[in-house]
Amino acid sequence: MPPTFAQLGAPDFIVSALAQRGISEPFAIQAATVADALAGLDVCGRAPTGSGKTLAFGIPLVASVGKAQPRKPRALVLAPTRELADQIMTELRTFAGKRRIGVAYGGVGYGAQIGSLRRGVDILVACPGRLEDLISQGQADLSAVDKVVIDEADRMADMGFIPAVRRLLDQTAARRQTMLFSATLDGDVATLTRDYQRDPVRHEVDDETPDVRAAEHVFWSVAKTDRTDICAEAIDAAGLTVVFCRTRHGCDRVAKQLDRRGIRAAALHGGRSQPQRTKALAAFAAGRVQALVATDVAARGIHVEGVSAVVHYDLAADHKTYLHRSGRTARAGEGGVVVSLIQPEQARELKSMQCKMGLVQPITDVDVDVIREAPRSRTRYRTLKRLDRPGAH
Ligand code: ADP
Ligand code: MG
Repeated sequence: MPPTFAQLGAPDFIVSALAQRGISEPFAIQAATVADALAGLDVCGRAPTGSGKTLAFGIPLVASVGKAQPRKPRALVLAPTRELADQIMTELRTFAGKRRIGVAYGGVGYGAQIGSLRRGVDILVACPGRLEDLISQGQADLSAVDKVVIDEADRMADMGFIPAVRRLLDQTAARRQTMLFSATLDGDVATLTRDYQRDPVRHEVDDETPDVRAAEHVFWSVAKTDRTDICAEAIDAAGLTVVFCRTRHGCDRVAKQLDRRGIRAAALHGGRSQPQRTKALAAFAAGRVQALVATDVAARGIHVEGVSAVVHYDLAADHKTYLHRSGRTARAGEGGVVVSLIQPEQARELKSMQCKMGLVQPITDVDVDVIREAPRSRTRYRTLKRLDRPGAH
């Protein structure tokens, strides 16, 4: 029996707010980190997408954050994308009680963000670029921040944000608690941990965690010219689907082509304005559009319940990207299908990617029944157990 949130030390107002959302049993990463984080220790957590990292750091933050003066937040959560920051803010607000949660990210006007900072934000969820802007305008001051979370640190590194993250951390209180979460803990992330965390307790969670491995993965041989038709059929069979394309232009084109085939689709990429992106996401989450056609960067960290399938319309650039993309489905113990549309000349590249993931599967003919028959539940969860071997990421 895993401990309850209350046993881990979460205060009553959080426990009951979570219970109202049907959240009563901690996931593995939460069971591992909440007590340490509540005790004020630095935490370095590695866990795959969908494993519940937001609550792992959110519960301790909400439980222990101080009250902010105007423009001087007390806790800072750094996230790599706007969508992710929004999602963290929304999730924290469900159990934040009197704590004020604010956001700071680019692509939208400054007015609302400046206004809320002025009124006082206890926990600020921010993307590095906009936060540096607000600081240079004198609208935010990090000197009272004594709790910092760096979420999706590996992605921050991939996106080139590490120098900005360092500059921001340097402005926070010297005596602070620093929590870092990432799907991988090597390279730049290891350096960040070394330079900014004090004796961090390290928790790594893989096995038995609901994560990307919950999905069934198929690789279909498809001629380039047939991709859109096959993609439309797959979406039709699956329901809510996230489709990945390499470029912004590709996203727009595929979304349009799907529309013409009777699939309501919306594009999500960095070339669209923030209101457009928010609208696309909301329409998808509400089921008004069936397919979200996204680039890698735009899709990171988005959690929409009940995504039945992921289609790699363009092959992922590497195995890390494949895993991140695929993690949009089969989250939180649900099932899902991950379809890659493979052209013959990509077979070798795919093979090498599969080897790195420990997911060696043949390229087959298109078989949409696989999607129709796939259980949308945790029963698929053991089929890809081979991914569990060390070094899978
Ligand atoms: P990650 O950041 O690791 O990718 P999230 O924190 O976004 O994962 O969590 C994934 C989903 O699981 C969210 O919808 C969240 O509300 C849900 N979730 C998290 N913890 C629990 C739990 N203990 N019980 C049930 N659902 C949970
Ligand atoms: Mg997350």
